[in-house]
Order: sequence, then C-alpha cells, then structure tokens
Amino acid sequence: MLDTYKHKGLRKQLVQLLKSKKITSQKVLNAIENVPRHFFMDTAFLGFAYDDKAFPIGADQTISQPYTVAFQTELLELQKTDKVLEIGTGSGYQTCVLCELSSKVFSIERQKLLFDKTSLLLKNMPYQAKLFFGDGYKGLPSFAPFDKILITCGAPEIPETLTKQLKVGGIMIIPVGEGEKQTMVKIERLADSEFKKTEHGSFRFVPMLQNKERNKN
Ligand code: SAH
Repeated sequence: MLDTYKHKGLRKQLVQLLKSKKITSQKVLNAIENVPRHFFMDTAFLGFAYDDKAFPIGADQTISQPYTVAFQTELLELQKTDKVLEIGTGSGYQTCVLCELSSKVFSIERQKLLFDKTSLLLKNMPYQAKLFFGDGYKGLPSFAPFDKILITCGAPEIPETLTKQLKVGGIMIIPVGEGEKQTMVKIERLADSEFKKTEHGSFRFVPMLQNKERNKN
C-alpha cells in the first residue's frame, strides 16, 4: 500500500482536529502524523481512514477512533526508554503509535484472526512491536514489570494481575465499565502497595473478554 501526499495531507488535517479537541502533547500529535492509519483499515473503509471515527476491522472488533488513541497515549506520558504493554492489538494502529514514542512495545490480542492479520502487516512496517496471541487478563509475567500498560478494550473492573505487572512509578490507562460506556481510568503505582487512581472522562470501547467467553467468539 502507498502513503501518498494526499494521505499525508489528510493526516495533517486530522492532527489539527485533534488539537482543536485539546490534545496538546506535540510528541503524540507527531506520532499521529507519522503513522499511516489507512494501512490498518479494511478495504471497505479505506476512504474514511482519516475521519475521527472507529471502524470495523473484522472479528466484531474496531480500530479505535484517532481521538481516543491520542487521548490514551497522552495519558501514558511515554518516554523513549519505556517498556510498554498494550492489551488488545486489534488492527495494530495504536501499537504503532506506541512504537513511535517508546522503544519496547509488547501487545496481546485474543482473536486469532486479528493476531495473524496484524502480525503479517507489521512485518512489512518499520515498527518492532512484539505481538502475542493470548489472554490479556494474564498480562506477560515473563516480561514484567512494565513502565506503562495500556488497555484498549473496556474492562469490567481493574485486573489485579495487570496492576501487579506495573513498575513502581509506572502508569496504567484502562477504560472501566461493563455497559455502553466506560470511564477512562489512570492508575499510577506510587509504591509497592500504593496506587493513585484518577478518572478522565467517558468513552466507548469493545469489551475486554474473559476466558470463559472465549468459546463464544
Ligand atoms: N488498539 C486497537 C483496538 C482494537 S479493539 C486498534 O487500534 O485497532 C480492542 C481489541 O481488544 C480487540 O481486537 C479485541 O479482540 C481485544 N481484546 C478483547 N479482550 C481481550 C483480552 N482479554 N486479551 C487480549 N485482547 C483482548
């Protein structure tokens, strides 16, 4: 697939839109300007790649809205040296935005179809994320602890297995809530057993599915 001047122009417009929606981190805006979102879209929606909307990517899942990607990424306060874990690889778009800002990115996806499709796509892109097929609720104990953890699906509650895999001084961003809407929650690990929790508005995500539901999907 090509990244043309037209695509680059549309990304500049998207960045202006995100600025008007109060995304302020220049690092995050640069990352959005650099990652060609149309590479991650289903062909049926290619023409809408730079609309600020979520779109279907197969397996009943969606590529997140650019504003949501930018907002979650901004809350993570990423540093180049951070080791980052993402739960919900999906299309891989958010994964690549993370790779623009941090050098060690790990991502887990529970849908085999999406895992296979995205693994293939990322092989042909200049991003070095390590992708895993599995259950995000378990995290990646053998690679823990992480500086930052990002959950890109709506969790019914905050999974303790994941907060345990956060470094002291680390940040986890997780949309929490079971219904139509989730609350964006930021968790900072201040000390071994001290966590600070703040809320950052209301969003809509596909659900973070538990093991027991695996057979249904
Ligand atoms: N970051 C993705 C968002 C995809 S939607 C993107 O920008 O494209 C959220 C993804 O989370 C879906 O692909 C879904 O299959 C995945 N997911 C849901 N529950 C999960 C779990 N327990 N472990 C890993 N991935 C999960």
